[in-house]
Amino acid sequence: MYYAKNEGPGNFKFYAQNLNEAALENITLEHELRNAMSRNELIVYYQPKVGVTGQIVGAEALLRWRHPLRGLLPPGKFIPLAEQTGLIADIELWVFEQVCRWIQLIVTNSVRNFRISVNISAIQFKRPDFIEKIAAILTKTRANPFYIELELTESISIGDIDTTIHRLNQLKNLGLTLAMDDFGTGFSSLSYLEKLPLDVLKIDQSFVRALDSKSNGQAIVQTIIALAKGLEMEVIAEGVETQAQFELLKRLQCPVFQGYLFGKPLTDEDFLTMLLKNSSLLPAAKYIA
Ligand code: C2E
Ligand code: MG
Ligand code: MG
Repeated sequence: MYYAKNEGPGNFKFYAQNLNEAALENITLEHELRNAMSRNELIVYYQPKVGVTGQIVGAEALLRWRHPLRGLLPPGKFIPLAEQTGLIADIELWVFEQVCRWIQLIVTNSVRNFRISVNISAIQFKRPDFIEKIAAILTKTRANPFYIELELTESISIGDIDTTIHRLNQLKNLGLTLAMDDFGTGFSSLSYLEKLPLDVLKIDQSFVRALDSKSNGQAIVQTIIALAKGLEMEVIAEGVETQAQFELLKRLQCPVFQGYLFGKPLTDEDFLTMLLKNSSLLPAAKYIA
């Protein structure tokens, strides 16, 4: 049924042996994913975000699964399954808690201009107990929300807009910063964007990639940057891979960047080593000792 649904509405598919195999593999993976958290197989990687001079201004927390047989799996291999099965809710809260604990360890209160972002799915965002659970984790870990950003996708605005705005305001009242991830790729309505109390706009990597071509890539990026500025939002370009893209983005007045040019997602230890080499930040001494 899902195979047919994936092909679009009003579709049908005949049974085939390979569908059975794929379904069986999904069932095995689901079973393993249910146990992955308790077996410490999930890990959080950190990808640096940098300013115009290359100084680190934060990082995005990105999930990986160290599968005992399949090796290190990227989120694309298991997040869709986690979303289908509802496991995503617990997994994301686990990621959020890991990040809170880590922030508590590495950042002193004297540090300014530094944030770690966590991805939150629309499924999670719409759960009735989501805000309560986020608040409970902040209290439990005593992490300073000043250093934490949530990356949401455009799909949060599908449905009742007033409820969405109310929830976003509740998150902001907790002291968190809110970003719109992959901007321009999904359900983007400019009138909604203007109403949503968001702080950061992330330019999707597909637009950054299009800067290289002779297409209208530059015009789109320029427009998104102007839009963010007009709405008094911060803006960041993701998926920056080449020096040429970086130079062009700087010329277009983009202030923050994320991408392989500056660093791939790293383990917490490797990211901390990178941070220590970056003189503008002083991680808390207790972690280094
Ligand atoms: P995203 O949130 O848009 O994260 C950015 C993705 O782009 C990451 O892929 C990152 O490794 C990749 N990336 C960064 N710079 C470059 C670059 O220069 N070139 C290229 N080609 N790619 C770059 P990753 O880690 O595979 O994550 C993919 C997606 O999985 C994320 O997209 C996010 O939507 C999702 N994801 C990751 N962790 C979580 C999580 O904890 N919860 C949820 N709901 N989703 C997550
Ligand atoms: Mg993201
Ligand atoms: Mg993104």
